[in-house]
Amino acid sequence: MSSSPLLNDLIEALRCLPGVGGKSAQRMAFHLLERERERGLKLATVLQQAMQKIGHCTRCRNFSETPVCAVCASSSRDRHVLCVVESPTDLAAIEQATGFRGQYFVLMGRLSPLDGLGPEELGLGLLSERLAEGEVEELILATNPTVEGEATAHYLAQLARAAGIKPTRLAHGVPLGGELEYVDRGTLAHAFGSRQSVD
Ligand SMILES: [Zn+2]
Repeated sequence: MSSSPLLNDLIEALRCLPGVGGKSAQRMAFHLLERERERGLKLATVLQQAMQKIGHCTRCRNFSETPVCAVCASSSRDRHVLCVVESPTDLAAIEQATGFRGQYFVLMGRLSPLDGLGPEELGLGLLSERLAEGEVEELILATNPTVEGEATAHYLAQLARAAGIKPTRLAHGVPLGGELEYVDRGTLAHAFGSRQSVD
């Protein structure tokens, strides 16, 4: 405990960040106070505005300051292909790495009954409504290749088929530039099982 109750409050508040424990929070607080007063104030302002003004897009559930985000509102994106991802970070990764020009749906999680995450929490009602609109022809299941991500993809595939839409899954395999002997067994088995014919 320090002699400043405000400092204690600051340290406690910083602990809400992922991976930040008491020691790190203390270091951050001291650093801001000693060396970054100006940027600390800027951080406080931006943080407050972001917390108050950023909500979720009513179409795709991604973070957005407007009711419909820029991607969903864009007329240049293909409305026939919808890519489902677990998080905004995954969406950003796909946007940066691929030339995907379709639209997205962000689950903000994955099916995980133990954590209380079911179809409702993932907005699957909204997704079903979207599929029922009839525009989507392909649903790309870009959830992570974890046990829960796979289970989520399985559930979403059923949802797509029920709506008469083709579900597709991201391929999992050997990393580019990798060597087979160093690839983990699960990945290698999966890559081997989903081998493709060579043109
Ligand atoms: Zn959107």
